[in-house]
Amino acid sequence: MDTRLSHVMDKQQQSDMTPDAALRDLMVGNARFVSRKMIQRDYVKQAESSADGQYPKAVILACIDSRVPVELIFDQGIGDVFAVRVAGHVVDSCALGSLEYACRVARSPLLLVLGHTDCGAVKSAIDRLALGHITGLLRDIEPAIADTKGYARNAKNAAYVAAVVENHVHQTIDRIRDKSPILAEMEQNAEIAIRGGVHHLRSGRVVPI
Ligand SMILES: [Zn+2]
Repeated sequence: MDTRLSHVMDKQQQSDMTPDAALRDLMVGNARFVSRKMIQRDYVKQAESSADGQYPKAVILACIDSRVPVELIFDQGIGDVFAVRVAGHVVDSCALGSLEYACRVARSPLLLVLGHTDCGAVKSAIDRLALGHITGLLRDIEPAIADTKGYARNAKNAAYVAAVVENHVHQTIDRIRDKSPILAEMEQNAEIAIRGGVHHLRSGRVVPI
């Protein structure tokens, strides 16, 4: 008998899920990932079941880093989460529009901003990399660098990079609230929660911050 999971999130499950429950669900999924106890899924059946609509529990804004595949590290299947991925999880108007769509139109109760250790975008910003469109993208990380006091500006210092990453997650959340009245109002009304976390590349663990 095929015991693989073929069920997908439905409308009722989504509307019953509080923002806190969605975060707990992701963290439990991350614990399954870290302990190699991931749910076995029938992805083809999940694709079929979700073809007529999607009711994701969360939208995750993460880096493009190839070592941060959000569905894998949170052990999520098809239809479970929206993933917005931009280098250094920088929010431009397209990213903001994607987050607003996920929360306001598609009714996901959780917005998670996920930084990660050893982020190449953060390290490049620290190193003042100037190249093509990368220059403008990295400019958005500069305020987090300016806010990280007590260190020399050195991308080879892992503790410093980790501190900048944390500050950048917090600042990204502030920026989302600041630039999106829609999301700020949804958060005030407790329709969504906006939370942050850091994914640790070596262990696979996500730590809420
Ligand atoms: Zn990164």
